Amino acid sequence: MGRFSNKVWKVLGAQSTRNQSRSVALIEASAAFDEWAQGLSDAEYPDAALALDVYDAKSEDRAKFIAIAREGADRALGLRPFDVQLQGADRLLEGDVIEMATGEGKTLAGAVAAAGMALAGRSVHVISPNDYLARRDAEWMKPFFDLLDVTVGYVAESSTREERRAAYAKDVVYGSVNEIGFDVLRDQLATRAEDLLSPKPDVAIVDEADSVLVDEALIPLVLAGSVKGDVPQAAIMEVVARLREGKHYEIDSDGKSAFLTDDGAKLVEEELGGIDLYSDVHVASTLPQVNIALHAYALVERDVHYIVRDGQVKLINSSRGRVAELQRWPDGLQAAVEAKEGLSQTDSGEVIDTITVQALLQRYALVCGMTGTAIAAGEQLRQFYDLGVSQIPPNTPTVRVDQPMRVFDNKGNKVAGIVDYVREVHETGQPVLIGTHDVAESEELAHMLKISGVIATVLNAKNDADEARIIADAGTKGAVTVSTQMAGRGTDIKLGGHDAGDESPEHDEVAELGGLAVVGTGLHDTERLDQQLRGRAGRQGDPGTSVIFASVEDPIVERHLPRGRLPGGADPETGEFPRGKAADLLDSAQRVAEGGMLETHANTWRYNQLVNQQRDLVMARRHTLLTTERPLDDFAELEPERLAELREADISDEVLEQAAREAFLYHLDRAWAEHLAFVSEVQTTIHLRALGRQSPLDEFHRLVIEEFRKLPDEAVGRARETLREAEITADGIDLDDADLGRNTLTWTYMVHDNPFATKGMANMFGMI
Ligand code: ADP
Ligand code: MG
Repeated sequence: MGRFSNKVWKVLGAQSTRNQSRSVALIEASAAFDEWAQGLSDAEYPDAALALDVYDAKSEDRAKFIAIAREGADRALGLRPFDVQLQGADRLLEGDVIEMATGEGKTLAGAVAAAGMALAGRSVHVISPNDYLARRDAEWMKPFFDLLDVTVGYVAESSTREERRAAYAKDVVYGSVNEIGFDVLRDQLATRAEDLLSPKPDVAIVDEADSVLVDEALIPLVLAGSVKGDVPQAAIMEVVARLREGKHYEIDSDGKSAFLTDDGAKLVEEELGGIDLYSDVHVASTLPQVNIALHAYALVERDVHYIVRDGQVKLINSSRGRVAELQRWPDGLQAAVEAKEGLSQTDSGEVIDTITVQALLQRYALVCGMTGTAIAAGEQLRQFYDLGVSQIPPNTPTVRVDQPMRVFDNKGNKVAGIVDYVREVHETGQPVLIGTHDVAESEELAHMLKISGVIATVLNAKNDADEARIIADAGTKGAVTVSTQMAGRGTDIKLGGHDAGDESPEHDEVAELGGLAVVGTGLHDTERLDQQLRGRAGRQGDPGTSVIFASVEDPIVERHLPRGRLPGGADPETGEFPRGKAADLLDSAQRVAEGGMLETHANTWRYNQLVNQQRDLVMARRHTLLTTERPLDDFAELEPERLAELREADISDEVLEQAAREAFLYHLDRAWAEHLAFVSEVQTTIHLRALGRQSPLDEFHRLVIEEFRKLPDEAVGRARETLREAEITADGIDLDDADLGRNTLTWTYMVHDNPFATKGMANMFGMI
């Protein structure tokens, strides 16, 4: 970071200190109203709360609201908010992302802020890490909202349309980013205004904010409709299956893309009948198929990226480490992997609409949030969302001991080191939580532990609720739990087990033993993720330890530390390097990885931005068509004769307006889906097209803008033709008959793995 940013940080630092002392003063001032709040009967709460204007800086209303929240939460939930929780709520009301450690009670802080905003007339979405937590938090906090007469609901994957509609009508709605995002996308299928589910977005309070706003920011949410998939031709699959790494293809240093060497290209060209892969015609048709096939063989690994179960390819969500039932890869990749596994082809999807998590959040007028690791994500939060960060001190100081990293010369020695360490700790009865990077690693490690006599619980449950239940018991005496980093996030790990109170003998016994021992099996791509793992121990002043084991064979080290810079002096017996120097080298590899990701994120954002803007335009047009009489006006203007004819046949204007609406919407949506397909095709080939002097980004812009310019005329032109020719009766327009039926089978997914990332195009599909 240069001098400029240092200065920025200083200014921001000063600002945040000022904000903090303002919040502290506010909480102190609120004490003067405690008696008043205590004197109110339950029945008097709603009016007393509603009379307050929490955004009026001149009045004492914010302080009064804090007093009401303190007393109200105590009454309704049996939780008397700590001052630090109220400080957090205050900073949320101001639109910051707050940092509060794990177990400090962010749920309640978020609910207090949500209630304050709702009382100020705003409509609030609390974005939860998953469905299970959305429901848990909405139900847990409901008595508090009820007391203030603020309505609350939640959406989950299993919610019906009616339940969703009811939930979105509440003042405060809890839901995961995917469910809320999918509802925004599904509104794309509505042909009547009353079918719209998802309201105009107003405020988002994002729980585990860094994971949503930074780690998942570029992941596209996709709404797809069923069409037959394009499998790469059998001949292509066959030749690609024979290619060898190093000779025929290379894998990029970041492990995310593979490309043919000259030898490889030659072999493919020969086997496909002596074609020229890089000629115009093959660049557009054959080469993308070869790339997809190569991706399926070289980069997508069975049991790491997917498993085969019941004759189907099921994706593994790498961050959560479990099967993602409703997810598929885009385009031909799914089909290619199915072909590689010799399975029959499932239908693949045409993308009807897509939006990234970042673009979804940017639709909100106000975004704020909470997480255990906000400061470390400060740069991204500022750069991409213009968000400030406030650090809230813990209610009870942390006494967790973070031990120095232990570095080994190879993976085998690292695993042996972990097993030894876990066995020793386990013998004392101290509970151990091991955070791995993926499911395969979890299972391998559990196996090695078993050989050495330690039985571990492996977290590979089918749903969030099961995971939460298991992880909640990770603090039980003698427990050894192996889990991927994200699994069970948001679940409290109490010493002594999930129902052990803070003063119970079970709690105290485990505290005596040293609390929870957290073990990391390697550095994550960012230090922030390591901190999250460490933060699972030492909640609310509990004792605890954390230690990370790493090896120079770990992917992050191999990718980001030049070979020549490897440390030396490993113990010949254990393979462990002396403390200090090796750890410094690995830390520097991690910083390189972080820098690279920030750059990728910024680049990808630049690519996405244009398509986001185009989406906004299409959505605005869609909204007009849905909610105004415009369709009938346009019908009259474009096809006056047909309209006159229909009116003469005694078809009401109401029916005609809806007929026109459906025709215009249908073709607008088709044109948009086609545009997205075009964009995706440009994305896969831009690095080839942009060879030479143009920058890929400029070239991408030029092509995508040019194509988009044609969209309105094309959509209207086709709608006009439909209005002229389709059957229109008193029952409405028959689009099915004109073979223009809408997709009745649709599904949604998140693209967690970027199939076509290349360095040149900076990874537009997400997955940084
Ligand atoms: P976080 O999201 O910050 O990790 P949670 O909101 O899940 O924390 O809360 C952690 C635990 O702290 C829960 O068991 C909750 O009941 C408890 N808790 C939260 N606020 C209070 C409070 N004011 N007094 C007592 N316990 C609290
Ligand atoms: Mg939480």
